[in-house]
Amino acid sequence: MATPDTSLKDYGADVFSEKAIRAHLPKTVASKLIATMRDAKPLDPSIAEEVARGMKEWALSKGATHFTHWFQPMTGGTAEKHNAFLEPCGPAQAVNRFSASNLIGGEADASSFPSGGIRSTFEARGYTAWDPTSPAFIKRHANGATLCIPTAFCAHTGEALDMKTPLLRSIQAITRATERLMGKFGRPKAHVSLTLGAEQEYFLVDRSFYLKRPDLLQTGRTVFGAAPAKHQQLDDHYYGAIRPRVVKFMIEVERRLWRLGIPAKTRHNEVAPAQFELAPMFEEQNLAVDHNMLIMETLRETAEENGFVCLLHEKPFEGVNGSGKHCNWSIAYGGRNLLSPGDNPRDNAIFLTFLSAVIRAIDLHSDLLRSSTAGAGNDHRLGANEAPPAVISVFLGDDLSAVMKEIETGRAGKKTGRTAMRIGVDTMPPIPKDVTDRNRTSPFAFTGNKFEFRAPGSSQNCAASQAVLNTIVAESIDAICDKLEAAGGDFNVELQKLLKRLIAKHKRILFSGDGYADEWREEARRRGLPDLRSTLEAIEPLSSPANCAMFVKYGVFSEGELKSRHEIAADGYRSRIMIEGKVALEMARAMIRPVVADEFSRLATAIGQASKDGLKVGIAGLKALSLKLGAGLDDLHVKCEKLEKAIAKGKVPDVIASMTEVRRTVDRLEHLVDDSKWPLPKYREMLFIY
Ligand code: ADP
Ligand code: MG
Repeated sequence: MATPDTSLKDYGADVFSEKAIRAHLPKTVASKLIATMRDAKPLDPSIAEEVARGMKEWALSKGATHFTHWFQPMTGGTAEKHNAFLEPCGPAQAVNRFSASNLIGGEADASSFPSGGIRSTFEARGYTAWDPTSPAFIKRHANGATLCIPTAFCAHTGEALDMKTPLLRSIQAITRATERLMGKFGRPKAHVSLTLGAEQEYFLVDRSFYLKRPDLLQTGRTVFGAAPAKHQQLDDHYYGAIRPRVVKFMIEVERRLWRLGIPAKTRHNEVAPAQFELAPMFEEQNLAVDHNMLIMETLRETAEENGFVCLLHEKPFEGVNGSGKHCNWSIAYGGRNLLSPGDNPRDNAIFLTFLSAVIRAIDLHSDLLRSSTAGAGNDHRLGANEAPPAVISVFLGDDLSAVMKEIETGRAGKKTGRTAMRIGVDTMPPIPKDVTDRNRTSPFAFTGNKFEFRAPGSSQNCAASQAVLNTIVAESIDAICDKLEAAGGDFNVELQKLLKRLIAKHKRILFSGDGYADEWREEARRRGLPDLRSTLEAIEPLSSPANCAMFVKYGVFSEGELKSRHEIAADGYRSRIMIEGKVALEMARAMIRPVVADEFSRLATAIGQASKDGLKVGIAGLKALSLKLGAGLDDLHVKCEKLEKAIAKGKVPDVIASMTEVRRTVDRLEHLVDDSKWPLPKYREMLFIY
C-alpha cells in the first residue's frame, strides 16, 4: 500500500502567500502588499501593476492558464468565470496578459444571480473587487489550473450582492467597538482579529445509489425512505474505525486542502451511519469563511472521484441525525484571545466584560441570530426533534455560571470558600475546559475560550451568521462603552456595577439544562425567548425596523440590502419546497405507483387462478396482502392528488404537509412490495453499503 507523502513542503503551495509574494515581487512592493493584506487596506494603485505581474508569473509557474474572480453570490455557493491569460498579438501568435485592472476589479454581467430587487435588469451589471485579506490561490483541474482571486461582489450602486461584503463590514464594526473598549482598559491599540473554526459535517453515499434517487439528485435529500431496523441506535458509528475507502477519500481531501493552506485538522465518523466530520484549525474569520466554501467544494469533487457523492444537505435522511456546521467564534486583541479567562485581575475584567457583551447581544438579538441560519434544509434540524433547538440560549457551564451569579448578587457561592468576585481586583477561579464543553444540546455554548454556535446548517455559508454575530456584539460593546463613559467615577467600581446590571437584565438567555426537552420550550416561552421554528418565521426579524436601524448604524446592511436579503431568503425557501414537492409527486406517481399496481394486479390474478383451481391454502394470505397493497394504492392516489393541488396553489405549508403524507404512504408500501421490484435504493443500503 502506498504511503502518502507526509512532508510539510506542499502546505500552502497553491496560495499566493507571503512567501510566494516575496519570491515574485520586488522587495518594496512585496512589503507594501503584505502590509495591505494584514491591515485589510485597499491596494495602493501605484503598486497594482507590479503586483499583477508578479501574481501572473507565480500563477503561470503553477501551470495556470486562466484567472477568475472568485466570489460568493447569494445562491449559497461560489461563483467563477474563467478568463484565459492568453491574448493574440499577431497571426498565430499570443502572449499571456494579466493587468492591474484584471486583478483589482471586474465587471460581470451577473443578471442571473439573486439580487432581491437591488438591480433592475437594465442595470444588471455587477462588480467584483479584490479582497486582499484573502490571498489568491490556484484551483487544480484534471488537466489544467486556474488562478482564483477572492473578491466581493456589488451592484453598480455599491450595494452588496454577496455574502462577503456584509461580513467584511461587520468585521470593521466589531473591530472599531473592540478598540474603543480596550482603550477604556488602557490597552494600547493592537490588531483585532475575529476567529472562526467551522466544523463541517457531511454524508457520503455510493454514487451508484445516488444516481437512482431523483430526490437526492434534485433536492439533496431523500423525500422517501422507510427507516431501517438498525440506524444509529447503537452509537457504533460515532468515532468508530473509519472504513478504508472513506479514509482514502479523506486523505485525498486533506492533501488538496493543505495545498490550499487550509488547516484541515480532525476527521472522524459522526453519529449517523455514513456521516462524517472534518474540522480545520480556526483562522481569521473572513479567511475561514472562504476556506469553508473551498472545503465543501473539495469534499464534493473528491467524493465523485472516489465513486461517492458527498451530501451537504442538513437532513438527507429522515430519522437519523442531520448535519450542522458548528461555528466556533472568538475575538483576539494583539493575538490574545479575549474570551480566554485571564490569569490576572485585569485580564479577568476584560474577559468578563466581553463575555457579558456577548450575553447581552444574544439576549437582545437571538431572533437575528436564528434568522441567519434559516433555510429549508435547516428546518429539519432546528426545532424538529434534533440538535440544537430553535430557541437560542447561551450555555456557560457550572463554574462560569457561578462566577456570573457572584457578580450579580455580590455574594460568593456557598461552596467556593471565597469572597465574591471583585472586577479588576480578583483573579478568576480556574475554569476547566472539559466541564464547559459538556452540554451538547445548547445552540450557543461557551467552550472554554470561545463560543460554539451550533445552529448553522451543513450547507450554509457561515458568513451569514458570523456577520450577525459580529454586528450584535459590536452593538453591545458600544453600549457598554457608552454606559462607562456616562458613569465616570472609579473604573473598576463602575464596571462591576454595570456588569451586575447587565447580568441581572439578560440572564434569562442563560440555560444549562437539556435543550431538547419539551419543558425547556415552555420555560423559554415563559422567559419570552423567541422560538422561531420555520424559515418563514425565522426570517421575519430581517424586516423589523429596530434590527434594520442597527445594521444601518453599523454600516453592515443598508435598508435596501436588508430587504433584498429577506426577499431572497423567502424566494429561495419557496422555490426549494416547490421543487421538493414536484420531485416527490413525480417519484410517487411514475416510480412507486406502477410497481405497486403491478404487484397488486399480479396478486389479483393469482387469487383468481387459485380460486379457480380450488386451492385450499394460500388464498387467505394473498388476499390479505392484496388488501393492504390495494389500500396503499388508493391512499397514494388520494394523497398525490392533494399534493398536486397544493403545488398548483403554490401554498408552501400545504405542500410540506401533503408531501409528508405521501411519504408516510410510500414508506409503508416499501415494506409490502417485493424487495427486488422496489425502484429506489433503500436507507438500509445507502447508509450502510459504502
Ligand atoms: P468539538 O468537536 O469538541 O467541538 P473540534 O476540535 O471538532 O471540537 O472543533 C473545535 C473547533 O474550534 C476547531 O475548529 C478549533 O480550531 C476551533 N477553535 C479553537 N479555538 C478557537 C478560537 N479561539 N476561536 C475560534 N475557533 C476556535
Ligand atoms: Mg464542536
